[in-house]
Amino acid sequence: MTGAAGQGGGGNPLAVARRVVVKIGSALLVDDETGMLRDDWLHTLVADIAALRRRGVDVVVVSSGAMALGREALGLPRGALSLEQGQAAAAVGQIRLARAWEEALAPHGILAAQLLLTLDDSQNRRRYLNSRATLRTLLALGAVPIVNENDTVATDEIRYGDNDRLSAQVAAMAGADVLVLLSDVDGLYTADPRRDPGARRLERIEAITPEIEAMAGESGSDFGSGGMRTKLMAARTAMRAGVAMAITHGGRPHPLLALERGEAPATWFLPAADPHAARKQWIAGMKPKGRIVVDDGAAKALARGSSLLPVGVKAIEGSFMRGDPVEIRTEGGALLGKGLVAYPAEDARRIMGRHSREIPALLGHPGRAALVHRDDMAL
Ligand code: GLU
Repeated sequence: MTGAAGQGGGGNPLAVARRVVVKIGSALLVDDETGMLRDDWLHTLVADIAALRRRGVDVVVVSSGAMALGREALGLPRGALSLEQGQAAAAVGQIRLARAWEEALAPHGILAAQLLLTLDDSQNRRRYLNSRATLRTLLALGAVPIVNENDTVATDEIRYGDNDRLSAQVAAMAGADVLVLLSDVDGLYTADPRRDPGARRLERIEAITPEIEAMAGESGSDFGSGGMRTKLMAARTAMRAGVAMAITHGGRPHPLLALERGEAPATWFLPAADPHAARKQWIAGMKPKGRIVVDDGAAKALARGSSLLPVGVKAIEGSFMRGDPVEIRTEGGALLGKGLVAYPAEDARRIMGRHSREIPALLGHPGRAALVHRDDMAL
């Protein structure tokens, strides 16, 4: 542990991030005593988000708080709710939560978009690809997606149950470089700091060892559903996807700014490779299910960093499904790279050599402009 993270500048992943996912725990957003939204705090957080956006950083928010807000509105008692009561509370609270985000972001000229996901959306390939495409499109259009679990339909078997893990999946799905968990704890400690005065916060973690897991123990907050265990699970998912993850106490005003400046205590989980390199490596290492042969114009466009459009495609070989890895080769047979294809083989054959604007007419439904998106390509 070298301690460079959290000291601002180049050593702090947030200072150099291009795409950030911020997870906000219920305990920060909703006052434990009154069950009301903590508006003043939210406005300082949103100012930080707006500052990131002005710098060209994409921001995705994963916001808890639907159940806490709905519980108050419905006059439900404190303590554990039944599944049905929790789902009813989320149904009422989610409207309020989304409106709060929309109203807080609007003065900064930022559009809020609501995404309600379930576990299925990351496990079912088709739904995963759809959710990912929507997320990316929203970011490209400059909106800030506000994500929560779809609590009203998600029952135990199809539920994350905590937004820590959901946010790590979202970070991987969005191709983010940083995930920030704004929590009611300021990091991972060697022991429970409430009980052990010798407990020390870890600054940087580069591998989740059994010792680290033991430290997570049963410590955590009582108000949200995620404790330190779910945060470690989130860290594992994030690190595997090349995403750096921070746990920090979000309760202060301007929590993101404080984290970026190294003024907020935090624990940073740092992946081995940088996220872009990690993703490219992952794609490059996949076994191709087919081959796309491209013309010289397309080969040049790829070298310039463009996506692969159907117009430059000469042949499609093999049988593959949407999302499968394929090789990209020149007509002479030289390997240009690999990528995850956006169409199944039969559709790819129908649109090859044609302009992207012809896709709806050729397939009978609208489709993606690129056959292989540049984010999904390793050259
Ligand atoms: N999805 C839940 C809600 O909005 C929060 C889950 C969590 O706290 O991790 O109330």
